[in-house]
Amino acid sequence: MKKNYEGYKKPTWCPGCGDFAILSVLKKTFAKLKIDPTQTVVVSGIGCSGKSYAFIYSNGINTLHGRVLPIATGIKLANPDLKVVVLSGDGDTLAIGGNHFIHTARRNVDITLIIMDNKIYGLTKGQFSPTSNQGFITVSSPYGSKEFPVDPVVLALTSGASFVARAFSGEVNSLTQIIEEGIKHKGFAVIDVLSPCVTFNKVNTYEWYRENIEFIPENRDLSNLKEAFTLAVYTNGKIPLGIFYKKERPTYHELMLDSKNPCREDLLCGRDRVVEIIEKLCE
Ligand code: SF4
Repeated sequence: MKKNYEGYKKPTWCPGCGDFAILSVLKKTFAKLKIDPTQTVVVSGIGCSGKSYAFIYSNGINTLHGRVLPIATGIKLANPDLKVVVLSGDGDTLAIGGNHFIHTARRNVDITLIIMDNKIYGLTKGQFSPTSNQGFITVSSPYGSKEFPVDPVVLALTSGASFVARAFSGEVNSLTQIIEEGIKHKGFAVIDVLSPCVTFNKVNTYEWYRENIEFIPENRDLSNLKEAFTLAVYTNGKIPLGIFYKKERPTYHELMLDSKNPCREDLLCGRDRVVEIIEKLCE
């Protein structure tokens, strides 16, 4: 049941923040898929999304700004049996963490990344972020942002992610379906969730999104990368939502821990050493 996944803290987000829907759907999905909280790690970074690890019942870690994906990669390599879910903001994922995003995608690390994409830095009171639209006026861009926005879906597709989707926190049915598919996927699943910041982003509101989103066709070959690109890029001015791409390929831990990999012993040795250090620290 969803209530079994309540975290040890209540969310402290502003009332109406789009992040509430993401958290609620994630708990519901954990309950539906009977995810074992003792075998799950929720990793978050810095920003409003950074508190998420405490709002859901599982193992959790609040990492450094922009470093969620390397930490999640380490967790998965150290114990591939764990389900690893990353909740990260647009700034955390695509500004300081942009480099890690690309490399996690091309390695196909078996984790689910949910981007709580508010198109603004909310925690620091409203500066433009990498996904803000050009011309967006904020406290740090009083004459409008001059920067072209990053499209997380296009970047994920070009970088090699094996599951790529976009959802909107105001459309809970499709959000639920996409998060469930992303959690079940074996490989790097990227879910960009358009999540209104009701306090600082007065442009990309729930109403604005409702007028500017469009669902892509569902009944198609999801492993067709060319079609995924076409749907992501040629948009008639609307923001396309849905699952763009899904294809299984060997994951990073499968390749690294393969018995034929000459580095395997070094990796296992390093892993045992880390466990030893942690055990000593916990004594
Ligand atoms: Fe949500 Fe914006 Fe409030 Fe942060 S500042 S909790 S993103 S509404």
